[in-house]
Amino acid sequence: MRVRRYGLFLAVLFAALVSTAQLGAQSVPVTLVKAGRLLDPRTGNVLAPATVLIEGDKIKQVGLSSQIGVPAGAKIIDLGSATLLPGLIDSHTHLLLNIVMPAEAERARHLNGSFVPAQLLAIAESPSKRVLMGAQLAREDLESGITTVRNLGHSGIDGDTELRDAINIGRVPGPRILAAGRKLIAQGSYLQNLNPALSDAILRQEFLLLDGPDSARQAVRQNVFHNVDVIKVTAEESLTVPELAAAIEEAHRNHLKVAVHAVSKNSIQTAIDAGADSIEHGNEVTDQQLKQMRDKGIFFDFTPTIYGDFWTRMTEATVVMSPALRDRWAKLDVSDTQTYDSLVQHVLKSGVKFAAGSDMGWYFPGKTLGQTSVSRFPVLHQAGMTSLDVLRAITRNAAEMLGWQDRIGTIEAGKFADLVAVTGDPATDITELERVRFVMKNGEVVKNDFAAH
Ligand SMILES: [Zn+2]
Repeated sequence: MRVRRYGLFLAVLFAALVSTAQLGAQSVPVTLVKAGRLLDPRTGNVLAPATVLIEGDKIKQVGLSSQIGVPAGAKIIDLGSATLLPGLIDSHTHLLLNIVMPAEAERARHLNGSFVPAQLLAIAESPSKRVLMGAQLAREDLESGITTVRNLGHSGIDGDTELRDAINIGRVPGPRILAAGRKLIAQGSYLQNLNPALSDAILRQEFLLLDGPDSARQAVRQNVFHNVDVIKVTAEESLTVPELAAAIEEAHRNHLKVAVHAVSKNSIQTAIDAGADSIEHGNEVTDQQLKQMRDKGIFFDFTPTIYGDFWTRMTEATVVMSPALRDRWAKLDVSDTQTYDSLVQHVLKSGVKFAAGSDMGWYFPGKTLGQTSVSRFPVLHQAGMTSLDVLRAITRNAAEMLGWQDRIGTIEAGKFADLVAVTGDPATDITELERVRFVMKNGEVVKNDFAAH
């Protein structure tokens, strides 16, 4: 009796599976996206008018509208005269950090300036609260056209890996995330003024502390255990080449790339000598170092976070401060911007491979994280980069730096259907990036302001 029932159960289960499979085969959605123009940032070529045929989450065919037929049952999304671009990639961000600039008195109390109080607050607060904030910031990024991010630390132990997985299975909306887990840092860098009796326990919520090559390998393995996609190391003066080289060797053994935060000339040299895959920030890089980076194929990742009047505008809105300090910030904005102009020129001239990230992690009043982040890309044009190079830095180049050039970064058959559209022509007005009106990720429409009329 029991055997017969079991057999019946199997037969019903089999029938259910077969019908589900048939249903699945029939229900792969087919979508045609039509637009007046499609701009390929790699070449500057424009298809006009353009059609992108999408099956499920992948691009099936791209071409002139006259060349692509309409398959039966296809859903048509007509974006009128808009310009289509690949989904944007922010290759350096912090979705679980949202720093509010502290008041002047609070800043003065800390040796390490404005970053420290907010950083400590982030580590000390509830991880649940923090990851829910991360979910909000992830959605804000996606709504501004950022369909992929590389999240390089400041996420607690597993905040960014869990957020990535939640997005991937559809619990919350957000960009695809390459998660770095905890940042590897040498003891002594980053945070000061902590209660020494508690400092190790506090820091280990956010960082993996390195002390020698063996601990560097161990730190990478701990991040691998948490299923990270990339390793982030902060190189400051105290980090040695053998320590960084050991971390990189262990990461490469696990097929992970290593992004190294390096700002000063010495730390940039450490990153080059140890064989980093990308150097983040790189502000004090020399021409000789750029040549070494080019020869070794190391990416330069621009982070023009505070370019232009960023501090002036942010502090006006959030911080009570004296006229004297306000004036100092304004002067800093001018001198920082001039320095950055020079950096951009030197990097472009060197022929080194480059990408760009917002390095956002600041609360900017009145703007979403996505709006603040995309506002950082047109400033590279102000610094002397062509509009096409800016677009490359946050599409095809970034995809290569992430090792995902076979999946994202261009509008091509076989890649994920990650598309954005703007009204004007970003090749002549790069600030169009701040006005993305259509976003598709994985073949699903996230936002379409063109549908209103
Ligand atoms: Zn950063």
